[in-house]
Amino acid sequence: MNYITESSKKVPVFAEVDVLVAGSGPAGLAAAIAAAREGVSTMLLERYGCFGGVITQVGVEGFAWYRHEGTVEGGGLAFEFEERAKELGASTKECQSDSEALDAEMFKYVADRMVEEAGVRPILHCYAVEAIVENNVIKGVITESKSGRMAILAKRIIDCTGDGDIAAFAGAPFTKREQPAWVTPMFHCRGVDREKFLKYVYEELQPTYADWKGEWAMQTNGKEDDLFSPYLVKPFTDAIRDGVIKESDNVAYGGTYSTVSPEGDVTQLNVVFMGGVDCTNVEDLTQAEIKGRQAVINAIKALNKYAPGFENARLRNFGMTMGTRESRQIEGYYSMTGDDVMNQGRFEDSIGIYPEFIDGNGYLWVPTTGRYFHIPYRAILPQNIDNLLVAGRCISGDIMAHSAFRNMGCCVVTGQGAGVAAATSIKEDVPASKVNIKKVQDALERQNVRVY
Ligand SMILES: Cc1cc2nc3c(=O)[nH]c(=O)nc-3n(C[C@H](O)[C@H](O)[C@H](O)COP(=O)(O)OP(=O)(O)OC[C@H]3O[C@@H](n4cnc5c(N)ncnc54)[C@H](O)[C@@H]3O)c2cc1C
Repeated sequence: MNYITESSKKVPVFAEVDVLVAGSGPAGLAAAIAAAREGVSTMLLERYGCFGGVITQVGVEGFAWYRHEGTVEGGGLAFEFEERAKELGASTKECQSDSEALDAEMFKYVADRMVEEAGVRPILHCYAVEAIVENNVIKGVITESKSGRMAILAKRIIDCTGDGDIAAFAGAPFTKREQPAWVTPMFHCRGVDREKFLKYVYEELQPTYADWKGEWAMQTNGKEDDLFSPYLVKPFTDAIRDGVIKESDNVAYGGTYSTVSPEGDVTQLNVVFMGGVDCTNVEDLTQAEIKGRQAVINAIKALNKYAPGFENARLRNFGMTMGTRESRQIEGYYSMTGDDVMNQGRFEDSIGIYPEFIDGNGYLWVPTTGRYFHIPYRAILPQNIDNLLVAGRCISGDIMAHSAFRNMGCCVVTGQGAGVAAATSIKEDVPASKVNIKKVQDALERQNVRVY
């Protein structure tokens, strides 16, 4: 690759705040709201035109689809997101669990309300492109937007970009697997004959989690096998068998849906999986978006022909962007392990709990027995760079731990923990790495988080 040298220039300081949160998915929303509720000035920066991350930009609605009788929950903002969505008419009963499926479009509005009510200063359409670091302490970020290149200075920065962008810009160590989890171009259909489709699902397919052991070769731990799951694979295997669509090396068809509305919309069609995509590489992202849309059109063709009720269905919309499951993981002061999430890890520096829900890396465990694990503060603190915290799917851990903490509810736990820790360290006037964890835990409990 050729290089040129950019000439240096003065950049206006757009804002100076106590806490800057970059990225507004489940983690970033929680981080910003939690920090602001602790009384520090907080800005939430987002590259797209709405808050919500994967929920609103990809269309993932199953916020707590793991919840069954016996599931022990962590409380806090994860609970509030679901409750608030319900209150504002932005959710429906989720089909496989005791939870609400968020309405991905309406959640844009829910997020606006929650950000405003918490007193967070919102900035949309603004991309963080560089970190400002002095002597291994982060001081701010450089941003790009329609207003040009600008700096935002902050006492603490919380990287909630999903991809660990700020940590990488700052020079914090991270890992990235060569073959990350497959990406999904999510889509939603309209014009489905609801009754006919539901009859097909409940009377003919009768899908359960045991089915995940078939084509997907996932391992359950048995207790969830008889529970209903909206697993939708047969129309695609039929279409491939008959040559209606082709499965290629890096595109697989078949997955799940979320909601069948009375108007005949079927949402969160999570049925196209694409491999070999590095979501931190702009060319890979471009190809994945274009090939992904083609694959969605193929998937609809299969549904039209082989899924009763879908005969006249059409595309309602693609997600705004490709859905990334995995990219960078920071190297924190503690790296969570499969053993921690599968064997009820316990930590003195816990910032919250998450039920034993594993979905990925060949495993599906649904938390029906009340087991849960702690998330340690050290897993959200990147090595080498102080006053930077990271929350969401890019915290420190191995791939098995990632299959648990990447889930939205757990991203909210790490986000809320990061927001409160950032605010507490400012009030204590100590670096984020030296914050008194007991004070963080007390503040989290005041925000209704279950810490242990
Ligand atoms: C297809 C798919 C289906 C899934 N299904 C489920 C499910 O059913 N249930 C579940 O619990 N989890 C599910 N997950 C996982 C879960 O949705 C994600 O792991 C989770 O949303 C990650 O949250 P996050 O806040 O870390 O990141 P994200 O939700 O990815 O949010 C990151 C935010 O940062 C912004 N951003 C990124 N870079 C920058 C930058 N440089 N500057 C400014 N802003 C930036 C993005 O625009 C985005 O808003 C699914 C994921 C995918 C992709």
